[in-house]
Amino acid sequence: MKRTLLFAIEELNKYTRMITGKDSRVSVSVDRENGAGDIFYENCEISIERGEGTIAANCERAALLGVYAYLREVGCRFVRPGKRGEIIPEKNAEELSAHFVFSPENRHRGITIEGAVSVENVLEIIDWAPKAGFNSYFTQFTTSYEFFERWYKHKSNPFLEEEELSDEDVRRYFAEIVSEIKKRSMIYHAVGHGWTTLCIGIDCNGWSETEEDLSEEKKAMLAEINGERKFYKNKPLNTNLCYSSEKVREALSDKVAEYAETHPEVDVLHFWLADDFNNVCECEECKKRSVSDHYVKILNRIDEKLTEKRLDTKICFLVYFDLYWPPDREKIKNENRFIMMFAPIFRSYLQPFAKASEADSAVMEYRRNKIEYPRSTGTYLAFLREWKKVFKGDSFDFDYHLMWDINRDFSGETIAEVLYDDIRSLKGIGLNGLISCQIQRAFYPNGFAFYLMGRALTDGRLSFADIREEYYSAAYGKYAPQAKEIYETIKNKVGFAYTGGEKCASGTNPDLFSALAYLKLKEENFIEAKDCNETVKESLKILHFVVSNVYRAVKVIVLKEENAPREEIEKADAERKNYFNSRELEFQPYADGFYVNMIVDGIIEAKAVGIYADE
Ligand SMILES: [Zn+2]
Repeated sequence: MKRTLLFAIEELNKYTRMITGKDSRVSVSVDRENGAGDIFYENCEISIERGEGTIAANCERAALLGVYAYLREVGCRFVRPGKRGEIIPEKNAEELSAHFVFSPENRHRGITIEGAVSVENVLEIIDWAPKAGFNSYFTQFTTSYEFFERWYKHKSNPFLEEEELSDEDVRRYFAEIVSEIKKRSMIYHAVGHGWTTLCIGIDCNGWSETEEDLSEEKKAMLAEINGERKFYKNKPLNTNLCYSSEKVREALSDKVAEYAETHPEVDVLHFWLADDFNNVCECEECKKRSVSDHYVKILNRIDEKLTEKRLDTKICFLVYFDLYWPPDREKIKNENRFIMMFAPIFRSYLQPFAKASEADSAVMEYRRNKIEYPRSTGTYLAFLREWKKVFKGDSFDFDYHLMWDINRDFSGETIAEVLYDDIRSLKGIGLNGLISCQIQRAFYPNGFAFYLMGRALTDGRLSFADIREEYYSAAYGKYAPQAKEIYETIKNKVGFAYTGGEKCASGTNPDLFSALAYLKLKEENFIEAKDCNETVKESLKILHFVVSNVYRAVKVIVLKEENAPREEIEKADAERKNYFNSRELEFQPYADGFYVNMIVDGIIEAKAVGIYADE
């Protein structure tokens, strides 16, 4: 029997025994119409009466997703990865009935590796993802080294000692991760940035700097900026090439075709240019055309080479930075080969797609290497509209709600609401789903937004309130009202509009003072968990940690607002950091210390601006 189908049956048996104490009497099969070879198509019919029946899917992944959808239907909840994130009810087999067709709302429902991760973190996310409704996973670069390095080296936490991490370790972790993705038949996305460096012989797995001197031949391939061809700010990954050069285009398309051929496990191979912006080639030939025109030429060459090799691998192209402006002359020839990825990285996460300003809907003028990207969401929607005119193929949103702002929004409530709104806008703006570029440990201040992402992408009928109720009642059980009250109070008193930096209040903010009093009281007299399951206990433990950390962060902000002596501010700030860092291990699977520290430090520093004019 096939691997994923076997796994789906094992999962069904495992959870059925946990629910009823007995083996499952439901058969799982793959025998429905397969969607004409469309690898993204998923359909599963669940027909179960009093514990007996069938789960019949069109493909193995849909069978596994169907099993989890059925388990949810009978009361199981998966609010976080791991055992302490599950709610499994106890029932008799006779109480297990479900009749529905699992047919997800969006074909692209994925998670991209980012943040600081241990191998266990990633494996747990992959295990949890289909339980939460996700169908895709994206490992960036060829080994994702940088994300592991951030965790194992513990550079952001003086309480933790640097651990050994060799390239060999990371390659082994990576192989394990890919194996778990394939075990679930998830759509496997790979690479993204890094092709530009592979062409000059560097396998880049992050944004590290180099002093390396290149040969004249290789240097000639780099973009010319201000008359010089060299690594952009010493970062190979952020260095564009001279795309008008046929040699460069051939080298890039060769590398992609070669990779697709030697990595048949990859379903969607991402071909992106360099990271960073205002760094494209200024040579006479490059300037004659838009960057997108050169890009599309390479895309068409990739397609020709893959066709020659009889490979079905999908190529994902990126609408990002200079590529926001669609090509004026070149056209993608074989649209079926490609998926368009819209990545509005600088947009505001306080302004959902549906509330984008009409005033910003004009297409910005292109100025080579002199572009200032605005935060207004409308600007990016205008770019998308222009691209939709020249590309009619499949596409998705590649977005960053849970990358930085999950830690900027201290309550996790506002970012969840914006995320929900955006997911519900996808169809209207012509996108077939979301691949989220985000920290993996996005369960702090809570897992609400991450949970909501999976649910809203999968089930188009659910309202924000439905998902919120479902999450809170599963995660906090009988303590849901108290948990809601705390998160809502944080939202109201230290809102995302304030910490998100768009309404950077100067002078005193009365809500901050009342927040401080409230948080102090809650920290000292926190909910005492009694007669509840381990998952609820864990949720409350995370919430207590949130209260303590937000209390300490607000305390520093208030001291700044009050113009307290510098030593007093520094002391409180050190106490805040020590509090979090000394407990990071205890909350490791939920809170990404690397990002929490970076973001909260940033918020606190920003609050100094405007208060201390001399700084
Ligand atoms: Zn050039």
